[in-house]
Amino acid sequence: MNLPTTAAHNTAADSPTFHGSSLELRNLTMAYGDINVLRDVSLTVAPGTTTCIIGPSGSGKSTLLRGINRLHEPKSGEVLLAGESTLTANPDTLRTRIGMVFQHFNLFPDHTALENVALALWSVKGMPKAQAMELARRRLAEVGLAERADHRPRDLSGGQQQRVAIARALAMEPEVMLFDEATSALDPELVKGVLNLMAGLGRRGMTMLVVTHEMGFARRVADQVVFMDEGEVVEAGTPAQLFDNPRSKRLQRFLSEVL
Ligand code: ADP
Ligand code: MG
Repeated sequence: MNLPTTAAHNTAADSPTFHGSSLELRNLTMAYGDINVLRDVSLTVAPGTTTCIIGPSGSGKSTLLRGINRLHEPKSGEVLLAGESTLTANPDTLRTRIGMVFQHFNLFPDHTALENVALALWSVKGMPKAQAMELARRRLAEVGLAERADHRPRDLSGGQQQRVAIARALAMEPEVMLFDEATSALDPELVKGVLNLMAGLGRRGMTMLVVTHEMGFARRVADQVVFMDEGEVVEAGTPAQLFDNPRSKRLQRFLSEVL
C-alpha cells in the first residue's frame, strides 16, 4: 500500500511525538459466565511499538482488548501498564491512559465533532471548558478535520467519524491506543486514509494494539503480529515470521483463507 502525501497526512507528521508506555499481559484469563473465552494469554508490547492481533471471528480478540482497559474484568492473570497493575487502578483513570477506538465509532450523536473530542477533557479530566475546546480543535486539526469541527456525526463520512473517534482518544494523551477493527465498518475507499492515520501514530511513538483484518497493514506496520485462535495466542512474532513462515497448522489455514 502506498502512503499518499495528503494534507492531513503532512499535518499529522508535523505533530508532536507521543510517549507510549509498555504493556504486558501475564496469563490473562477471561470468561463470560462460566465459559473461559481467553486462556492464559501472555504478551509483551514494548513502548512505542505496534502489535497487530489477527485471528478468526470469535477467537477472543475483542475480549482481550476489553480486558486491558477493563470494559470487561479479567478473571485471573495480570495486566501491567508501564509496569503497574491496571487491575487495581481506578477504571476511569485507566481509560484516560489507554485510549480505545471501536469498529462503530461510538460517537455521541447529538454533539458536534468538536464537542465529542472536548467532552471528556472537562467531564473526566476537569479541564476548563474553553481550554478543552481549544485543545480539541488542535486534535481535530491533527487528524485533518479542522473544517468539520461543527458537524455532527451523521453529517460526516464513516472515515471522518473514525478520525473524530481517534482524535477524541488522543485528546486524553493516552499511553496506549487500542483499535478494535477500526476500519471494518468503513466503505472501501475510506479504509486507506484511516489506516494511514493509524500508521502515523505508530511512527510518532504511540504504543498500539490493533485488532485488524487488514493483513497488508499488519505486514507493513506491525512490529509484532499475534495470531489468536479459540482464546489462545497460537503464534507471535515479526510480520515476516507469521506471514512468510507460519509454523502452526491453524495459522496456515487462517492465512490461506484471508490472503
Ligand atoms: P473476536 O473479537 O475475536 O471475534 P470475541 O472476543 O468477541 O472474539 O469473542 C470471544 C468469544 O466470547 C466468542 O465465543 C463469543 O461468542 C464470546 N462472547 C463475546 N462477547 C460475549 C458476551 N458479552 N457474552 C457472552 N459471550 C461472549
Ligand atoms: Mg471482535
